[in-house]
Amino acid sequence: MKKNFRQLSEEDISRFIESTGQKPYRAKQIINWIYEKLACSFDEMTDLPKDLRDELNKAAYISNLHLLDRQISIDGSQKFLFGLEDGESIESVLIPNVRGRDKFTLCISSQAGCAMGCAFCATGRQGLRRNLRAYEIVDQVISVSRIIAPAYITNIVFMGMGEPLNNFREVVDALRRLTDLMGFSKRKITVSTAGVVPKIHELAEKAPEINLAVSLNATTDEVRSRIMPVNKKYPLKELMKACREFPLSPFRRITFEYVLLDGTNDSKEDALRLVKLLSGIRSKVNLIPYNPYSLPDQDTRQLFRKPPEKKIHDFQNILHKAGLTAIIRKSMGADIAAACGQLKARYIDEK
Ligand code: SF4
Repeated sequence: MKKNFRQLSEEDISRFIESTGQKPYRAKQIINWIYEKLACSFDEMTDLPKDLRDELNKAAYISNLHLLDRQISIDGSQKFLFGLEDGESIESVLIPNVRGRDKFTLCISSQAGCAMGCAFCATGRQGLRRNLRAYEIVDQVISVSRIIAPAYITNIVFMGMGEPLNNFREVVDALRRLTDLMGFSKRKITVSTAGVVPKIHELAEKAPEINLAVSLNATTDEVRSRIMPVNKKYPLKELMKACREFPLSPFRRITFEYVLLDGTNDSKEDALRLVKLLSGIRSKVNLIPYNPYSLPDQDTRQLFRKPPEKKIHDFQNILHKAGLTAIIRKSMGADIAAACGQLKARYIDEK
């Protein structure tokens, strides 16, 4: 069977090249072509001798994500639907940076589907299909970079489909490839979790200096367990303890995402409780007014509503007055179902 060079580790590629009798530096060249020059085939590797390229084509290949759909929002964000080798599909979302029209943040998926079942999220409705392999996670960055060149990706966020910390080993391997092989700064990569507490500790050990984001969304265990089942296993007290213990370099903060749901978690009392929960943690709060998404199930659609503008601003003001940084996130890509909680909403019927 042909070997997939996208999947192989650097050591495996070196061993393979040595086994063909080639000099070790050829392996370095190939790794450089794949991760820095974003090559998708051996034929693109023009500084390799022709006979080596022929030999590689016979024994190996470089898998590529298959672009199934690309939608561009009126606000400039873009959503990509990629097909995987086994027929599963995943989404990645490109978000324009505020500064610099040709610079983007890429939101990537770590699983096909998600098992976490957050009540406000379209991906969660789909259930988990499978974990992504490290190369499939990285390949979203490679594929989108090739599509949008010469514009480029400055930041990467693991906030697409899936709970990254439930696919820990592959996510850590992907982080290593993104930083060591592709040259992304750890400061520019954020891993977001719904609150898988034991893995928060492990992330700090295995991928130090990677930014942490926590999808918080409630200030009491009663509400959080209702909208995020993970809270039944890891309640707020344990989650906040893990955040307090998360090692942060100077000037770094944990981002807390808070999807505002009208009448569920957006009261004055919630804002005051949130201030209390975050005391002693260097933090930044992203307030995300809920995005309704188009599921076939009418009852589900009506579960939540976006709070009125005034309520959103009142909530933010309470956080500001307490000295917290709280930003109301404008929903990017809502018209193409690329906003928070909307991934796979459009495709859910097709599975
Ligand atoms: S919000 Fe994140 S963790 Fe929750 S169901 Fe959606 S993808 Fe999974």
